[in-house]
Amino acid sequence: MNQISHNWAGHVAFGARSTHFPRSLAEVQALVRQAPRVRTVGARHSFNAIADTPGALLSLRRLERRIEIDPAARTVTVDGGITYAELCPRLDAAGWALANLPSVPDFTVAGATSTATHGSGDAHRNLAAAVAALEIVTASGDLLVLRRGEPEFDGAVVGLGALGVITALTLDLVPRFELRQDVFHGLDFDAVTEGFEALMASAYSVSLFTHWAGDRVDQAWLKGHPDASPPALPCGGRPAPGESSPVMGRDPTGTTAQLGVAGPSYDRLPHARIGALPAIGTEFQSEYFVARRDAPAAMRAIRKIEAALHPALIVSEIRTIAADTFWLSTNHGGDSVGFHFSLERDWPLVKVALQALEAALAPFAPRPHWGKLFVTPAADLQARYPRLADFRELAVRHDPGGKFRNAFLDTYVFGH
Ligand SMILES: Cc1cc2nc3c(=O)[nH]c(=O)nc-3n(C[C@H](O)[C@H](O)[C@H](O)COP(=O)(O)OP(=O)(O)OC[C@H]3O[C@@H](n4cnc5c(N)ncnc54)[C@H](O)[C@@H]3O)c2cc1C
Repeated sequence: MNQISHNWAGHVAFGARSTHFPRSLAEVQALVRQAPRVRTVGARHSFNAIADTPGALLSLRRLERRIEIDPAARTVTVDGGITYAELCPRLDAAGWALANLPSVPDFTVAGATSTATHGSGDAHRNLAAAVAALEIVTASGDLLVLRRGEPEFDGAVVGLGALGVITALTLDLVPRFELRQDVFHGLDFDAVTEGFEALMASAYSVSLFTHWAGDRVDQAWLKGHPDASPPALPCGGRPAPGESSPVMGRDPTGTTAQLGVAGPSYDRLPHARIGALPAIGTEFQSEYFVARRDAPAAMRAIRKIEAALHPALIVSEIRTIAADTFWLSTNHGGDSVGFHFSLERDWPLVKVALQALEAALAPFAPRPHWGKLFVTPAADLQARYPRLADFRELAVRHDPGGKFRNAFLDTYVFGH
């Protein structure tokens, strides 16, 4: 592929005048110096125009892959174009792992951390929390290196591509580990809301899938250590009779192994196996984060709008994410719960559903996922980020001419 015309879901046509596939850091620096407007695209999996630019679009997938493990520091340094699918099996073979992963492994590490992409697990922060250092080519073409603990670091990690081109990241490692995955069907809705904290703490990573219908939560996927005793039946659920798809009744081909079979963490934490995701998407996605203490009330509020939601809804996923300190993180400042919605690829239907969802969740001041669809007015969104002004200053300091700005950032970060 020599052009990048659309995002993965196919509905965002990139407006870039030119696309570039630099093969070295020096090429990235030269391109950034020359171009009046530039953005970097990762694996194209965002559902809005966050990666777009009217200028030069850079893809780093032809950069030489870097996987440099430092066993003493327990870190790995990777290039800015690598995906989790490329990285994780290599780490596993070397005896290492990342502590947490998203639902599919196809994203670039740089693209995922830039939007605060997350997995699940009470104790786990989003994927940006694994970043120990960043190397960024800024608007001048110079290299900026930021390490955890430095004053600008917390602003830069979830950077939405606004600071420049991330050409390398250093990530924390843990020793390789195995997990088993157990799926339960038919949980009782009231038992889930009443016992939410205990349920979500009952394994290393817990995801709930549901269609918000009636008095049931369709499924709980529990990913736990293989030597822990098998999970007790949660909230009235019963063990799934076989492998399950996140969407009840659908073909589970392509999902990571279930039924308690242990395997490497990189092949259990994501729901989809490496290579299973189709090259072109057939769905839309949205997700909203609220304070974890509000999870039961938010669940009850969502269930009340099922009539507006159902025409658009494929499946919903509920996950927990621990608090972090990144200025633009959707999980900034408090433990949160994410309500994810896989939706039909039909904007008029989806818009109605999102308007109803956002109205239902308004009392909880939800933060929408930066890489998914939302209809939140910019002023409301901005009011939910206490460090927004600091982020604006940081971005302007490193990009005074707005080279890395685009319409999405102009509206949601710099607007007003
Ligand atoms: C099937 C599917 C499943 C998903 N599951 C999850 C999930 O489990 N959890 C979750 O939180 N989200 C999920 N998402 C959303 C996804 O994680 C985010 O949209 C993520 O940002 C995509 O990463 P990407 O590599 O495709 O980046 P892109 O979408 O290409 O880019 C995202 C942002 O990162 C910037 N960027 C990318 N690379 C660089 C770089 N090298 N330097 C500077 N900026 C850069 C871009 O400019 C843009 O602003 C899912 C999406 C899909 C399609």
